[in-house]
Amino acid sequence: MKAIAVHPDAIVVTSRIWQTNATALRAGGEALLIDSPYFPDELEALPALLRQAGFEPNALFATHADYDHLLGRFAFPNLAMGVGDPTMERIRAFPGEAQRALREEDARNYVERSAPLALGGVQSLPVPGYVELGDQELELHPADGHTSDGTALLVRFANLLVCGDYLSPVEIPWISNSGALADYRATLARLAPLVESVELVVPGHGAPQRRDSALRLLDEDADYLDALERGEERPALPKGRDSGRQREIHVENLTTLR
Ligand SMILES: [Zn+2]
Repeated sequence: MKAIAVHPDAIVVTSRIWQTNATALRAGGEALLIDSPYFPDELEALPALLRQAGFEPNALFATHADYDHLLGRFAFPNLAMGVGDPTMERIRAFPGEAQRALREEDARNYVERSAPLALGGVQSLPVPGYVELGDQELELHPADGHTSDGTALLVRFANLLVCGDYLSPVEIPWISNSGALADYRATLARLAPLVESVELVVPGHGAPQRRDSALRLLDEDADYLDALERGEERPALPKGRDSGRQREIHVENLTTLR
């Protein structure tokens, strides 16, 4: 697990697997943890790591309901988790979905946990909307398409956009079963001016990106969606993302859209 300070009041923690990012923010004596690392040892070490950096989260937030972003309560079992309304709808419509997916992934990776995933008290927030953090405010923007839910957080006081599973330097656009290509396009269009307005973008997976590289990823992703919509079997994948695993995701995308 890797931790980098991206702003005096923002730290990004990256899991050893899938380069999954969790972002801690602080303002006015409060702190928020967005998303989570994956492995039990990472989750166990997280509270002390954040405390040493001066972050003591008093709330959690998940960008979307995929299990790999919902594990914050393993690290902070007493904290409530905030989610956008569409994420709450998904959790209600598919109870146990995240728990089941986590069990399967854990089995695949020979990972053992001391307890099953319990989401606890989940608080639903209107998107678009705002959430208060100490003396500051975060903007919540809809970010669906990868899945049926999704929230991007614009953090003006730290010049950051935390966008969930979009604009990744390591993963091509992934239209999962609940997602939709048209929604994905609309999200990219919605994210563009937000990216323009910040210095740094923290994607769900992969290194945080400066504004210019995030905009380049956004263009590449839009081009990829064009190729996907044309049903191309072997489109040119963006540089740095042309791997066997990303080809597999492309095949999954083709299957989902058919
Ligand atoms: Zn993810």
